[in-house]
Amino acid sequence: MRLLSDFDGVWTDQAEEAQAVRDGFIAAIGEAAGQAPGQVQEQYESFLTSILAEPQLHGWAPAGRVTAFVDEDPLLQTSSVAGWLDREPKPSEAAAHWRETARSLGHDTVTSLANQVFGSATREHLARGKHQLVPEAREVMDSLLALGVEVVVVSNSDTSKLADLFEGIGLRPDIDLRLRGGAGKYVLGEGDASLQLGGRRVFVDRPRYASVLLEENPDLVIGDVTSLDLALPFVLRASGQLKPSLQLCLRRHAHTPDWVLPSGQTGSEGRVLHDHALDGVRGLLGMVPKES
Ligand SMILES: [Mg+2]
Repeated sequence: MRLLSDFDGVWTDQAEEAQAVRDGFIAAIGEAAGQAPGQVQEQYESFLTSILAEPQLHGWAPAGRVTAFVDEDPLLQTSSVAGWLDREPKPSEAAAHWRETARSLGHDTVTSLANQVFGSATREHLARGKHQLVPEAREVMDSLLALGVEVVVVSNSDTSKLADLFEGIGLRPDIDLRLRGGAGKYVLGEGDASLQLGGRRVFVDRPRYASVLLEENPDLVIGDVTSLDLALPFVLRASGQLKPSLQLCLRRHAHTPDWVLPSGQTGSEGRVLHDHALDGVRGLLGMVPKES
């Protein structure tokens, strides 16, 4: 049995990392603009509140179209705010000031600054030893391996970050588990194929993730962000390109939005994309048949 697992938000809880990214973004703007951190933080909070009021319209959109929505993952908040600041046709005074500040730091866009901050803040978070796997990671991985499960971790993050963290708990990449970093799940193709979910349009032409899924042909997929992790395997299973027996698991967090859960569905078109919602990786053990 082959498990294709997302990394951030499945083997980690991303709240602290998201906070580090947010703080780094606020500090970069504050320092460049010569403003007090409290004032800059207030502005950031008001931007975030604006886009969270219409989360179906906003999110991580590295190439213009939303690839994952702002309310799906706290790690997406800063890039969602930055993208909104870049695109907002009638920016407030504060928003215009953030744009100018990003330019004063040599960035064409606020997104470019946010990307740089994301990279440096996550690296520092890792270097400070604050980025950690969930406490049960080793025990669950050992049990999965003992059950004969082949574990492939597929992430947009660098393979080196994944390797460091798994080696830190005594697991050997390429021997105990396979790592596929830089997976580009967020990269959208030219096509506009999509599915409707909770009143949103989730794009499913994701060529880089598709090639990983088709190559690996998994029995089980787990991820915490429905748009990035689960929408495409759902479609590929429905079209017969992945096994009909493929099971899709959502790693549910307190921040997981209603619109991907049964509780958020109304009317005859209501549906969810996952077959199981798990509150932690330990739940994976219940998904594995004895003979796998
Ligand atoms: Mg994730």
